[in-house]
Amino acid sequence: MAEIELRGIGKSWGSFVGVKDVNLTIADEELIVLLGPSGCGKTTTMRMIAGLEEPTGGEILIGGESVTDVDARDRDVAMVFQSYALYPNMTIYENIRFPLRMRGVPKEEQSTLVQRAADMVELGDFLHRKPGALSGGQRQRAALARAVVREPQAFLMDEPLSNLDAKLRAAMRVHIKHLQRQLKITTVYVTHDQIEAMTLADRIVIMQGGEIQQIGAPDQIYSDPANTFVAGFIGSPPMNLITGRVADGAFGAPGVEIPDVPVDDGRAVTLGVRPEDCKVATEGAHLNASVYGVEPTGDVTILTLKTDTDTIEVKADRDFRAELGSPCKITFDTDRLYYFDADAGQRIRTT
Ligand code: ATP
Repeated sequence: MAEIELRGIGKSWGSFVGVKDVNLTIADEELIVLLGPSGCGKTTTMRMIAGLEEPTGGEILIGGESVTDVDARDRDVAMVFQSYALYPNMTIYENIRFPLRMRGVPKEEQSTLVQRAADMVELGDFLHRKPGALSGGQRQRAALARAVVREPQAFLMDEPLSNLDAKLRAAMRVHIKHLQRQLKITTVYVTHDQIEAMTLADRIVIMQGGEIQQIGAPDQIYSDPANTFVAGFIGSPPMNLITGRVADGAFGAPGVEIPDVPVDDGRAVTLGVRPEDCKVATEGAHLNASVYGVEPTGDVTILTLKTDTDTIEVKADRDFRAELGSPCKITFDTDRLYYFDADAGQRIRTT
């Protein structure tokens, strides 16, 4: 158990910058999620913490000690990957025991530790089987047990649930969070799945183009995004972003008019509004658009609307239905509107 500190770490290959000047302190016992699209640098950042990739700049500390020049096997971190990386010829018992043997844990302690780790992931009755005789979810749990068996200083998990189907993924998410809370081991978890990030993390680190865009608790990232990238990445469907201009105190874009906005006249602005803050209306609308798609999901209906320039998604009542191409009026919850600089994408703080 330990704090992990990244001080200005970066990674370049020739002139290509994969990770740029990342500064991040992960508290002892914290579960932090590195989130971002493919190629944003999250895996490289995690591999540098693991010691599998050498930074081209900066320093990494684990438990207050610099490990920048320490070999991966001496860093006392355990990794869980998307591919389970179990040895197919060994039983589950032998697979889980493997890190104990490598570390020279006395033989008489090994079987107790293996049994305890297997019980934690509910695999206690499967120890005699080979990986080939387990389901995907059970194999991933075996990989987890192998990571927890020696209680390392930190867990590093790289998309560990990507190979599982949606239902199993949701179940394993709860399992991992429970286990992490139980063991109180500092954890870095890499994913491109924002739902996974929102549900698992104490704090989310959102990356793009090798740089950190925002760090915050899930609620904070959702309700207080720093820029259009974060706003458009989080949420399902994500925040609607509509680019327009402020004139005479009102925001205007094709099909959109919002009076009395707290932004200076003449400014090019991107308006942000979440689908759940839009309401189908009969009058006093902020948005006039036409219906492009109607998708009932059971608890809500996702309504896709088009203006001349934008596509806007709305969470409508579960029984809302409309003809494709028909006109539709929407009001926005004006207490929950966001404004961003149209060019830089940074949030314009209005209070
Ligand atoms: P994914 O979700 O697809 O794994 P990621 O966010 O984890 O993406 P990284 O694997 O960290 O992304 O890669 C960051 C960038 O660095 C990418 O553009 C990638 O192509 C590049 N990169 C990674 N490894 C190397 C390498 N060995 N040589 C050159 N470029 C690399």
